[in-house]
Amino acid sequence: MTAHPAPVQNLDLGGITLTFVPDGEFRAEPQVAYPHGHEHIVGEGLDLVDENGMLVLSVGAVLLRSGDRRVLIDAGIGARNIPLVRPGTTHDAYMRGGALLQNLRALGVEPGQIDAVLLTHLHADHVGWLGDERGSSVPTFANAEYWVTEEEWSFWAKPENGGDPVGPRRHELDIIDSRRRPLTAGSQPLDGVFAVPTTGHTPGHVAFSIEGTEGRALVVGDAVHCPAEIVHPELVWVGDHDAPHAVRTRVEIARRLAEEGVTLVAPHFPDSVFRRGS
Ligand SMILES: [Zn+2]
Repeated sequence: MTAHPAPVQNLDLGGITLTFVPDGEFRAEPQVAYPHGHEHIVGEGLDLVDENGMLVLSVGAVLLRSGDRRVLIDAGIGARNIPLVRPGTTHDAYMRGGALLQNLRALGVEPGQIDAVLLTHLHADHVGWLGDERGSSVPTFANAEYWVTEEEWSFWAKPENGGDPVGPRRHELDIIDSRRRPLTAGSQPLDGVFAVPTTGHTPGHVAFSIEGTEGRALVVGDAVHCPAEIVHPELVWVGDHDAPHAVRTRVEIARRLAEEGVTLVAPHFPDSVFRRGS
């Protein structure tokens, strides 16, 4: 079996529906993504790599529909390709997007109907559709507010953190700041949706607990990148800002998945972004 980017998928929690909206894909050599422990990616039957042995991750956003609300969790990478080439890489490694808006429209949702974007963190593959590729400050989601933690915002707003190829671009920061709403632990940006701090991957990373009448889900952003990090929470992703903290966060998420009957929504997982605990 080989891995593929996940397709459009739905999860009905009762009164709240989550839909994974694909934007593109990510491919990288396992030993680049996980400098230590990459044998867990290829050797344990988890079906995480393609025919060339490259780790495959999905890239996209989660659409949340509840009553007349239309909310996105994260905003994809945009119509762009970010090369992830390292010395010694033998196959093409990249993050690539472009399909988010057409997939949203196929679901019957126009960008102007999105009334909030909840941001797990501000890496490039989570804010890419907020603006356009010309770098203008005209927002794609013209009626949206942007929810982000103060820790995440202040880190990326520092001039010395500008220019990071996997960080947000200037126009994306400007768009967020024009209608920015603060997220803190327990913030409830809409009914049944709660912010859960999941620091480590970035300084202010946050997950979202979604509580419907028939089930609960935890949208984890990049607190967990691929299923191997649930089996081995001690795995450190190459891009984790604070590795020990990221590991503590993953251990807690793995516990909640196993013990609390919550459905994990991990938008980078290949093939299916939804996982039920055992
Ligand atoms: Zn990401």
